[in-house]
Amino acid sequence: MEIDAVMENGGDMKILVAVKRVIDYKVHIRIKADQTGVETANVKMAMNPFDEIAVEEAVRLKEKGIATEIIVVSIGATGNQETLRTALAMGADRGILVQTEADIQSLAAATILQAIVKRESPRLVILGKQAIDDDSNQTGQMLAGLLGWPQGTFASKLDIANERAIVTREVDGGLEILSLKLPAVITTDLRLNEPRYLSLPNIVKAKQKPIVVLPVEELGVAIESRLQILKVTAPEKRMAGTKVASVAELVQKLKNDAQVLT
Ligand code: AMP
Repeated sequence: MEIDAVMENGGDMKILVAVKRVIDYKVHIRIKADQTGVETANVKMAMNPFDEIAVEEAVRLKEKGIATEIIVVSIGATGNQETLRTALAMGADRGILVQTEADIQSLAAATILQAIVKRESPRLVILGKQAIDDDSNQTGQMLAGLLGWPQGTFASKLDIANERAIVTREVDGGLEILSLKLPAVITTDLRLNEPRYLSLPNIVKAKQKPIVVLPVEELGVAIESRLQILKVTAPEKRMAGTKVASVAELVQKLKNDAQVLT
């Protein structure tokens, strides 16, 4: 059945995966002094974790003989090439950097990806369900809307058969299983897979794989911001907790604190 899916499409089953470069999730975020955003200078960057899952899923589909080529695309500054190299070391075949210094919001990212889809004609586009820097959770849905393609968001399982993507989604109270006609857009949830560690030989091999740098202006699409960030502030500091030795001490303490408050 899996082989049929490839054959029906003339043996060509390209997958496009969008990978965003974000601040590494282990880094403690600092807010800029002028409250216009978060500090990114001299901060460790990494691939958005949901996008690692997207790359892993595409690589697994290629290993199963379903996908024929994996193209990874990142939108942003020159440094994003490092993120693309990581994806290539995981097993993607080639990379596209859509180069821009502009602040790219979800609709702009979706519009750019739509232009790349037009150029590359993939059968499947896989994105993360959200980027951990802005938590927008919009790009995949907007891309599907712009393309007029079916979407399977928050995928926790994915199968491809007979020119369809079978997507399992964890919803309140159970699992929802969708059957999407290809081409389709999929966004990944945490449980879809566990991304592989990079091996040294694959890191070396990835250096030979091609990355095309495409200035965003060449795509001729509108990328202006639709919303303005007024202010970014850190969450309020939580008060330090205290440890109590027994329930009796806890009750006494709560009583005392209640008296202080009244
Ligand atoms: P968001 O809608 O911003 O939460 O992002 C959802 C997904 O869209 C991410 O996990 C990426 O797969 C993709 N995406 C968003 N922004 C970019 C970008 N600048 N470059 C590449 N992919 C992106």
